[in-house]
Amino acid sequence: RQRRLRELVSRPTLTRNGVAIDLLANLELPEDVRTAKANGAAGVGLYRTEFLYMNRDDLPDEEEHLANYAEMIAGLDGIPITIRTLDLGVEKGCEAFVRCGSNACNPALGLRAIRLCLKEPELFRPQLRAILRASALGPVRLMLPLVTNVHEVDTVLALIVQLKHQLDREGLRYDPALPVGAMIEVPAAALAARAIAHRMDFLSIGTNDLIQYTLAIDRLDDAVNYLFDPTHPAILRLIRMTIEAGRALNIPVSMCGEMAGDPRFTRLLLGLGLREFSMQPGALLDIKEIVLDADSRELQRRTAQLFDLLDETDPSHLLEALNQA
Ligand code: PEP
Ligand code: MG
Repeated sequence: RQRRLRELVSRPTLTRNGVAIDLLANLELPEDVRTAKANGAAGVGLYRTEFLYMNRDDLPDEEEHLANYAEMIAGLDGIPITIRTLDLGVEKGCEAFVRCGSNACNPALGLRAIRLCLKEPELFRPQLRAILRASALGPVRLMLPLVTNVHEVDTVLALIVQLKHQLDREGLRYDPALPVGAMIEVPAAALAARAIAHRMDFLSIGTNDLIQYTLAIDRLDDAVNYLFDPTHPAILRLIRMTIEAGRALNIPVSMCGEMAGDPRFTRLLLGLGLREFSMQPGALLDIKEIVLDADSRELQRRTAQLFDLLDETDPSHLLEALNQA
């Protein structure tokens, strides 16, 4: 089976009915680039930059960020990379985060990710400047974690304009059209996806947090992980809303939570209209095998039918129905 999967690496990722699907990689460390490329990733849909802040008591400066992004871009040979700005908090806490004064008793609902970055511009600016400068070196997209409202988005966009002027004055290059996107991983953001989509170049659904926040289950608490259910009707509706917001506003929507790399959900997500999947590199070929064999039109028709019955049937039946050959 491994050999059969390896043979898929060079095949274009098209469904049986000829729809192109982007299968992208989630990277956490620079060395993940090799696995991503070996498994034929079309790009990086999520580069988590938290490791740059871990196990140290100072903060990375702009040059350190830039050197790291430049190395990644060089290693990727022209495929695009989506760099996510710092998402520190809860399970990803580090010295820098602690110094920023978070002693919240419920950190998942506290000053995390974009919230922390907007409160601490000195933490945020060097990374934003470095991502802008990296965009002169290859195809880069910038992605914001844990967006909750349009005010956050507008604040970041204004900051980016300001930093572009600064770089102009310093004679430093960047891609003036650097795409900026938001992760949709807070239920409020999914419900307001159209408003966010109006301002963004792309959206990416973070199901790990979307499920945590929608179902009110701490993703780190084993006592409640039996409730973790990507097929809960509430989750499916939020995913569908987000994909539809992207379609209505004509911007791409990807998914970079674990759900995108889980073969049980590939046909369902194709049926919901998802066309970009980002996952841990080890899952790329398993998902590709399913995509190559799928008829997206048929899946969309059947998913729409099943959605009409969402409140009357057990969601696991919906999956079974879609996953039958
Ligand atoms: C997510 O929440 O689904 C996600 C991709 O981000 P992280 O797992 O890094 O929070
Ligand atoms: Mg997340």
